[in-house]
Parts: sequence; structure tokens; C-alpha cells
Amino acid sequence: TNAPVITVDGPSGAGKGTLCMLLADKLGWNLLDSGAIYRVLALAAIHHGVELDSEAALVPLAAHLDVQFIAEGELVKVILEGEDVSSTLRTEEVGNAASKVAALPRVREALLRRQRAFSGEPGLVADGRDMGTVVFPNAEVKIFLDASAEERAKRRMNQLQQKGLSVNFDSLLSEIQERDDRDRNRAVAPLRPAADALVLDSTHLSIEQVTEQALAHIEEKL
Ligand code: C5P
Repeated sequence: TNAPVITVDGPSGAGKGTLCMLLADKLGWNLLDSGAIYRVLALAAIHHGVELDSEAALVPLAAHLDVQFIAEGELVKVILEGEDVSSTLRTEEVGNAASKVAALPRVREALLRRQRAFSGEPGLVADGRDMGTVVFPNAEVKIFLDASAEERAKRRMNQLQQKGLSVNFDSLLSEIQERDDRDRNRAVAPLRPAADALVLDSTHLSIEQVTEQALAHIEEKL
């Protein structure tokens, strides 16, 4: 389609999810959480006993993934093979497994069409790692949202504590760094800003400030 696209890429925990939700809500546009697709695939692999590095077994699993994303107000319910996996999907363990399957070139290719299918009127806000570089290279607006690893670990720790979970900062930080390294250094679609992306560092910015700067940039571009 020719519907406009805004891409938001960046490392885990930089605030992409929150920003994209606010932008999609404000503009009344569709939302693609591409990370959720990789997470669902990782979870399906675990359920089916498929090794996370077995490209040959993961490609058909990716091609036939039986998943539904159901919008429920601000939240999106994810149904995998008839089962609500919404909360399991958000764990650090599944995020880590997702970044393993996401490093495999043919797996990424098998998920391309599924991601592009989210594009449509009146527009799409796409959240991920390679939205501006690979999936929607012709997007009207591209944003790369970054933050220091320490700040991202701190935010994640606060989130978990609010859920009543106790966590160790150092192990959280090293998990985040390990996942980032894998995402940045993989051979295909590595995490990096598109040449024409606005790079926003949210380390010292509030959600409101990030949203404000993003909206100013969008207004300028659209
Ligand atoms: O964004 P989220 O943390 O849900 O993504 C989980 C993992 O999926 C990332 O660490 C990354 O390896 C992979 N991913 C990707 N490309 C995307 C979105 C996510 O490789 N567009």
C-alpha cells in the first residue's frame, strides 16, 4: 500500500513500546510490535521442542505461525495456537530466546511479509530493530530511540519491582547487554540507525519529552 509509515527502532528498553503506543494512539494509526512476532516464534519453538538455532526447523514454524494479535484498549492480547501468551511473552527469558531465532537470516525472511502486511490506511507505526533499514526502507519518518544500557536496566528493574518482582540490577544489566550485542553484531539486519533516521537519546529524557520531540519531527516530515 501507499499508506504512510513511521518506524521506531532501537535497543531493548529504550522506550520504543511506550512511544509507539502513544504515537499510534495520537495519530489513530495501526501499530506493529515486530518484537512480539519474534517472541511468539521463540515461544512456539520452545513449545514444540525446536532448537533455537535450528534454522531448517524454525523457517516452516515461522511460515505457519498460528498467532492472533487482538487489540484490547491500550493493550494487545497475543494468542498463540489458541492460548493467551500475552504475559509469558514479556519475560526476559523469551526476549533472549527471541534474539537467538532473530539472528537467523531465513527466519527473518520468512517473517517479512507478515510484518509488511500491517501497513495500511491511515498509517502505521512500526516498532523494532530493522523497521527503518529493512522492513520499511521507504518509510516517511524514521526514528532511532537509544538510551544507555544502565538507564535501560534501571527502567526495566523499576517495571519489574512495580509488579512485585525482586531483581538483581547487575544480572539484569548483563542480560540486556548480551541481548544488545547479539542484535547489533548479527550478520543480517543488525540493529543500527537508518541513514535517514532521527536519533533520539532518551537517557536523560522523560516519556513526555521523547514524545514531544518525536511529534515535532513527524510534523516536519509528514
Ligand atoms: O523488542 P523486543 O524486545 O520485543 O524484541 C525481542 C527480540 O526480537 C530482540 O532482542 C531482537 O533480537 C528481535 N527483534 C528483531 N527485529 C525486530 C524486532 C525484534 O530482530 N524488528
